[in-house]
Amino acid sequence: MNILEIIDDFKKECACGKQHETAVKDVLIESGAVCRVGDILCKNNFSNNILLVADENTLKASNGIIESLGGFNVEYKIYEDLRVATMKEVDEIEKLIANKDVSVLSVGTGSLNDVCRLASATQNKKLCIFATAPSMDGFASYSAPIVNRGFKFSYPAKSPDVIIADTKILANAPKELKSAGFGDMIAKYVGLVDWQISALLTGEYYCEKIAKLTRDAVDELIKMADKVCLNDEYVAGKIFEALLKTGIGISFAQNSRPASGSEHVIAHLIECVELRDGIIPNFHGDDVGVCTLEMLKYYNFLAENEYIDTQNENVNWNDVYSFYNEMADEVRKLNFPENVIDDVDKDELKNKWGEIRKIIHSVPSYSECEAAMKKAGCKITVEDIGKDQKLFDDCVKYSPYMRKRLTLLRLRDMIKY
Ligand SMILES: [Zn+2]
Ligand SMILES: [Zn+2]
Repeated sequence: MNILEIIDDFKKECACGKQHETAVKDVLIESGAVCRVGDILCKNNFSNNILLVADENTLKASNGIIESLGGFNVEYKIYEDLRVATMKEVDEIEKLIANKDVSVLSVGTGSLNDVCRLASATQNKKLCIFATAPSMDGFASYSAPIVNRGFKFSYPAKSPDVIIADTKILANAPKELKSAGFGDMIAKYVGLVDWQISALLTGEYYCEKIAKLTRDAVDELIKMADKVCLNDEYVAGKIFEALLKTGIGISFAQNSRPASGSEHVIAHLIECVELRDGIIPNFHGDDVGVCTLEMLKYYNFLAENEYIDTQNENVNWNDVYSFYNEMADEVRKLNFPENVIDDVDKDELKNKWGEIRKIIHSVPSYSECEAAMKKAGCKITVEDIGKDQKLFDDCVKYSPYMRKRLTLLRLRDMIKY
């Protein structure tokens, strides 16, 4: 099934009881798609006035896109190299589209798309994303991570109406970006484990069909690990498709469970600390990939225990708040008066350990994933991603408190072996 067929298929009644929808209406992934951008916008009733947002790298990579827009009035907002999405760029784009009949065409990945997704949402404009690299899973996302006054917040934004990718351009993307995309996909194994464990222990909503969409996408990709770094249109298209499927899975589930677990939270915390310290973060998938391996190693280690003993969670909150420092208030609100552990019964955790071990073993192991990531040219160690080991360990330790979301990592304090 291609993506549009999947979107259609999910409109049918689902065993989970939910009606699954996404705002994405049209998707085109093919060789030479760059020449068809104008036609696709026309077909989807975009305005004749287009604001094209890109940076110098992504515009250069999209050779032919300007020509394809021949029938449109195009205004350009070209950044030099947009690595961090901040409110400044969102404001700039909002001003360019406010009170006008105009649609937005975002040419790029990550931060460029994030600022466009938020600005198009606040100004209620149509949005098309033309993806230039298969580097992360946020293309279809309906929230945008934006830095505001030094902090990164996730804002409700807009899923693009249309997503276009040219496999020739994706294949030509720097191999670091493709490897990062692969790392972001391997993370789904941890995400799926965390989601199932939470459903088992707390009754949290879980949809087998959405989980399978993610699972099949990553399983298919892991088989192609040794081809990720090649300039191969088929493989680059597959990485992109896999990232898109999990992104659309997020819309279907109306939360990011199908795509992210404890590893994404750790990577997010590292990014927050780096932004605070004025450091430009790595590619999302690089940090996420290394955090994924760290979590798989830990989860595999836990699963070696056939039986466990359990106790109530015992957190030294002063310690947690002192680590979070200026973010401590936010973290407090996420844990008091109630938190994700309230719904976990320690006896149930002990009794269901056999099932939890099965869930952990249902995904490829740490060593299998590490081997695949090496083949795919991914960063593997904490040193590879240029982090201080102490900072990394602290982020692993404290990250579970920054989300209202149960993960196996958060249960660490309750497990005795
Ligand atoms: Zn469902
Ligand atoms: Zn991700």
